[in-house]
Amino acid sequence: MARTAFIYTDDFLKFDYGPDHPFKIFRLKLTYDLIKAYRLLSLPNTQHIEAKMAEDEELLQFHDSEYIEVLKAANVGIEIPSGYYYGLGPGDNPVFKGLYDWSKLVTGASLQAASLVEEGKVDIAFNIAGGLHHAMASRASGFCYVNDIVVAILSLLKKGRRVAYIDIDAHHGDGVQEAFYTTNKVLTMSIHETGRMLFPGTGFENEIGKDEGEGYAVNIPLPPFSDDDLFIHAFNEIVPPLIKKFSPDIVVTQLGVDGFSSDPLTHLNYTNNGYCEVVKKIKEISPKWVALGGGGYDIANVAKAWTLAWAIMDEVEIPDKIPEDFLEEHLQEVFWSKKMRDKIYVEKGVRKEQMREEVERVIGFIRENVLGKIGNHH
Ligand SMILES: [Zn+2]
Repeated sequence: MARTAFIYTDDFLKFDYGPDHPFKIFRLKLTYDLIKAYRLLSLPNTQHIEAKMAEDEELLQFHDSEYIEVLKAANVGIEIPSGYYYGLGPGDNPVFKGLYDWSKLVTGASLQAASLVEEGKVDIAFNIAGGLHHAMASRASGFCYVNDIVVAILSLLKKGRRVAYIDIDAHHGDGVQEAFYTTNKVLTMSIHETGRMLFPGTGFENEIGKDEGEGYAVNIPLPPFSDDDLFIHAFNEIVPPLIKKFSPDIVVTQLGVDGFSSDPLTHLNYTNNGYCEVVKKIKEISPKWVALGGGGYDIANVAKAWTLAWAIMDEVEIPDKIPEDFLEEHLQEVFWSKKMRDKIYVEKGVRKEQMREEVERVIGFIRENVLGKIGNHH
């Protein structure tokens, strides 16, 4: 049985993107409470680790110092004139009180997850607050100020570890891709809704890395309305064979939950059945695993999906009926079905056939242009 660690602190709840912002930090607490309601933190193989803030120097491993200075200045919660040039301001990346502290706490938790796994203390560590994949070296983007994923991967590379990255968020993992676009030291793979329809407008199959990194960036764009069936198929055709060829020491994943049909920001039609199948596959192919969170804007969905994912990491089956005490504690959140697992949904008809054709085309492109380029550089 895998030894696991869950990185969490109630301090996450000290921060708030604002009442009209879709990114609700409360979803972390909701997930934590649901995991506890299922007694999944008192299993013999697992431990809860309190999250700690990262140091400035750790963030500077990836981020530019001028940008970090801007984040520090914005930490008081007041707009600063130069903020606009760094992606800060009303809209996606608002200036809120403690935004730099929030970023350091999220990144600290991802670094803790990485080092617990790297040092062999656990086989799997999960930081549900992490996975802020859009942040760039000197710019906030897509609700992300600091890229905890890149910082965590860099800490693993420093220890000489070979890292593969898998991103199943509905949005392209552009910040992580860009950070490692010209190196063959990290294999980045992102499966997401096509950038034709969705932020950040990148992640097409022909983005495959360049120079030494050619073939080490992999993108699987899916058409809008793709269902579990297509998601699982595309994932299984590409990701496991690439992991096998690349042969990483550690797999880092972004487990965003915004590809579900009920998510207000995207147009994919996954259910948590497909999501769980992919998470199980990730567990099967990962020698060691640093699991991070990501997007997810229907917060009941997020809590259910990450609780199911955590149960998979711990190799336990949980009852489908959501515990009563949890439902009573969270009456204001809507758990319509009172069940953990979504109804199975399969798209049919002409639209499905068109989507399938498009997915097969993308799989064919990646097989032809990427699979042959990946080597095992041990
Ligand atoms: Zn997303």
